[in-house]
Amino acid sequence: MRNKLIEFKNVSFKYGEEQPWVLKNCSFEVYENEAIAIIGHNGSGKSTIAKLMNGLLFPQEGEIVINGQRVTEESIWEVRKEVGMVFQNPDNQFVGTTVQDDVAFGMENRGIPREIMINQIDKMLTAVGMQDYLMTEPHKLSGGQKQRVAIASVLAISPKVLILDEATAMLDPKGRKEIMKTVTEVQEEHQLSLITITHDLYEVVQAERVIVMNKGEVWDEATPRDIFAKKEELRKIGLDVPFVAILSDELKKAGIEMKREALN
Ligand code: ADP
Repeated sequence: MRNKLIEFKNVSFKYGEEQPWVLKNCSFEVYENEAIAIIGHNGSGKSTIAKLMNGLLFPQEGEIVINGQRVTEESIWEVRKEVGMVFQNPDNQFVGTTVQDDVAFGMENRGIPREIMINQIDKMLTAVGMQDYLMTEPHKLSGGQKQRVAIASVLAISPKVLILDEATAMLDPKGRKEIMKTVTEVQEEHQLSLITITHDLYEVVQAERVIVMNKGEVWDEATPRDIFAKKEELRKIGLDVPFVAILSDELKKAGIEMKREALN
């Protein structure tokens, strides 16, 4: 049995006293070394969940526990050591003038010795296939390369969970597929929990479990296959099941099993 890493317990959130609730009584758990996807149409509350997970926001009701620690104003710095986040726009995430500086930044803040840092930078950039770009200025990289560096920078501080908040949304389909492949490899190698937040159902195929959000509520929670089987209901809440998943399901009914790689 895997340990619980993240717990949302009856969490409700609104952006201000006079504002409507954007999350309503949300409860779910994420386990160690588990890959989950959070999906839902725009405005369903996904990004708000991500921000609550690293203490950028706090719920008015309910509680969030990360690695046994309740997320509060006092605990956010401890919590942030466990939670690495990569957002949609890579340009907003760079702090260094070179790729190397950027990956070093989080470690420098934690006072990690130089020897270990150099080793770690090399290891993380290799993990995301960017080891040849140490001295490159981030703005000279392609969108996909920037996201790889952003992922390496987050991994360098050894979090227990990596959250990708629409992190591939600005990439073309090929770049998207490559990043997801890298992330899956990194997740397995580093035994991370991975939370992929997306409105693109193609990205959920690799998840073990999918949490579907609708209008601020947890609408369903199941394996990708079980979620995709509800294609009519999903359409009603603004989500389209990828053709390849429908095809795979039809083939299965006919006794033909599609290989997992074929779905990616
Ligand atoms: P998603 O990531 O699923 O698109 P969000 O969590 O970004 O959804 O948004 C959920 C709801 O909260 C939306 O109705 C959105 O308009 C509202 N919202 C998001 N950010 C803010 C904010 N800073 N101030 C007020 N309302 C916000």
